[in-house]
Amino acid sequence: MKYLYTYPEKCTGCKLCALACSLKHFGECNPKMGAINIVRDEFERYEIQFVCLQCDDAECVRVCTKKALRKEGNVVIRDEKKCIRCRMCVVACPYAGVHSFKGKIIKCDTCGGDPLCVKFCSTGALKWEEESMEITERRKRLASALLKR
Ligand code: SF4
Ligand code: SF4
Repeated sequence: MKYLYTYPEKCTGCKLCALACSLKHFGECNPKMGAINIVRDEFERYEIQFVCLQCDDAECVRVCTKKALRKEGNVVIRDEKKCIRCRMCVVACPYAGVHSFKGKIIKCDTCGGDPLCVKFCSTGALKWEEESMEITERRKRLASALLKR
């Protein structure tokens, strides 16, 4: 199965990915409305992308009392009709994979298996790749680094 993988060492912080995402999903060019968040550390001088990891055993799914979230294949889907925007998923996600802005819950839906952000990333810092042992290990290392932040 394919997943969206991030390569922070290649990220320049241009935020084109987030702009493309917000335009596609909300008709607005606002990086805060993108499902991918680019965070800049001014002191250490690096950028890092926060995006939903589409976990197998997802905390967001567990805490959603309205059953608005469910894992289907390689994506955790949010049902807009069931969601009451209580933000419990935002609080529960350990990876900052879902956030809220202007009363909306914003989370990657992989654009139905063809993520637009990847097409707008000219440096290769985002890839839609087939899962492999190597990148799964890399993803685990990234996730545990994020948990330590
Ligand atoms: S929102 Fe967070 S907990 Fe839920 S699938 Fe994405 S990364 Fe995992
Ligand atoms: S904000 Fe919506 S998706 Fe998130 S926990 Fe609440 S009901 Fe579920």
